[in-house]
Amino acid sequence: MAKSRPEFIPIKALPELAGVHVLTFDIEDWFHLCEIKSVRNKTDWPGLTSLVVRETLSILELLDRHGVRATFFILGWVAERHAELVREIAMRGHEIASHGYAHELVYRMSRADFRDDLQRSLDILCDVAGNGIKGYRAPSFSITNGCEWAFEVMAEMGLEYDASLFPAARGEGGYRGLENAGAHAIQMSGGERLFEIPMSVVRVAGLSIPFSGGGYLRLLPGNLLVYLSRRLGRQGIPAVVYLHPRDMTPHQPRVSMPWHRRFRSYVGLGSARAKLELLLRELRFIACEDYLWGCRGAL
Ligand SMILES: [Zn+2]
Repeated sequence: MAKSRPEFIPIKALPELAGVHVLTFDIEDWFHLCEIKSVRNKTDWPGLTSLVVRETLSILELLDRHGVRATFFILGWVAERHAELVREIAMRGHEIASHGYAHELVYRMSRADFRDDLQRSLDILCDVAGNGIKGYRAPSFSITNGCEWAFEVMAEMGLEYDASLFPAARGEGGYRGLENAGAHAIQMSGGERLFEIPMSVVRVAGLSIPFSGGGYLRLLPGNLLVYLSRRLGRQGIPAVVYLHPRDMTPHQPRVSMPWHRRFRSYVGLGSARAKLELLLRELRFIACEDYLWGCRGAL
């Protein structure tokens, strides 16, 4: 039976969090690329050289130096093979959250398949890091209009927030209908409630322009990233920075793919670390669950 679309209620955090931004990492390997034929076969994955542990440890060192707590959306497939990495992230005080198990696009999954994928990832993460996983981010921000059932599944599983909506046009993913790029409460028709921390966009000439993560962050100049983040912050909206370990790994195996994906995947790999350092110096960042604490207080 089709259910009605949930209601999205914009929320602003407490005044103490004005100008504070949100730092997130999607922890997966260089070959976890959606919709790329040459790395689609999961039975090949265990045979590929893994860079995720080394590069994530390097991110952890950087965050330690800056004294910043971030959210790590960890792929279940990675957590299953590198439990020690999950423990290390948790031990250094960061928030552990789910990026699903097998890096499947949500809009390609049935509700039952999504439930199984999410449950499997939560079982692994809870086993390694203990209970208390609150958040989920879909691979490639793939909760699109029509996939709102995914929020119901998350709420049924006891999650408190989602960070999967990308309020701009996008190859995979993209969601229409949010009032702004700030946090929202998602009120479902059955009475359940979830919070949403969408990807950041700025409005330029009537268009929603992403800037704060992945290929956008690698492409744009660092000073512009700081400027746009501050501009959002003045509107009471945090910049949500998202990066993968591979975003900061210039020397990684190159995967065969169409030219536009190649550009998006590999532009600016050598500059991302310096840009992240600049952002960490210039702006204040916190983890998703800490930002939500401030949102709850404002409700
Ligand atoms: Zn991913």
